[in-house]
Amino acid sequence: MTVVETRGLVKTFGSVRACAGIDLTVRRGETVALLGPSGSGKSTLLRHLNGLTRPDSGSVSVLGVDVVSARGTALRALRRRVGVVFQQFNLVGRLTVMENVLSGALGRVRGPRYGVVTWPRAVRSEAFEHLDRVGLADRAYQRAGSLSGGQQQRVAIARALLQRPELVLADEPVASLDPETAASVMDLLVRVCREDGLTMVCTLHQIELALQWTGRVVGLRLGEVKLDEPTDLLDAVRLRGLYLSDPVTV
Ligand code: ADP
Ligand code: MG
Repeated sequence: MTVVETRGLVKTFGSVRACAGIDLTVRRGETVALLGPSGSGKSTLLRHLNGLTRPDSGSVSVLGVDVVSARGTALRALRRRVGVVFQQFNLVGRLTVMENVLSGALGRVRGPRYGVVTWPRAVRSEAFEHLDRVGLADRAYQRAGSLSGGQQQRVAIARALLQRPELVLADEPVASLDPETAASVMDLLVRVCREDGLTMVCTLHQIELALQWTGRVVGLRLGEVKLDEPTDLLDAVRLRGLYLSDPVTV
């Protein structure tokens, strides 16, 4: 089944063509890295996939929904099916780790109101299971803001999983982490998505991370797809060409 399909996607900011006619098809269960130098259009492309940006022209279909025309309820319904992981984790630092994870269920379960009603027991135990999967069960009742960056991103992944998404989008999920932590968080992100049969599309700007952890690399340069190959067949020389400042023919 096709989870993501863009055709002829064009997005311009002033004189900058952030996306210059992108055709991208992602099938269920794939783990895809959008890779390219800064300014190549990775984030803009990703933002089209949950309707944060609308194209100037072209089509965007995600989980069978026409994202370009979706508004209001239809767009909210789609976003409930799409988990998002951000570069800066976006946790609420003063709340506990557990409360942050539980917020992932807000789209499908009525959460506590004014601290009177608590989360259903089943949701709490599901949240706890995800915290356990990301290795942070023992941190459940600490303030999220007291954790390290790598731990905060693990919490954000648990929060996204509690949403029970079909697609996970991650914009530079490890760009704020040191190399060792970045590798372990990429390992976790890809592993849980594969375990749960989720489709994952992330942006990365480091070739090594994409090659080591994802199943397919879509190489972007100046808003165009310059290569699109399964990671194990990828020609690393061509891939590195994307990063050269001279115009490349790949
Ligand atoms: P990447 O994520 O690969 O670094 P982006 O998608 O963020 O690239 O940006 C692609 C190009 O579009 C860049 O030249 C960037 O400056 C421009 N751009 C992106 N978003 C905006 C915006 N909201 N307003 C103006 N220009 C933008
Ligand atoms: Mg970006």
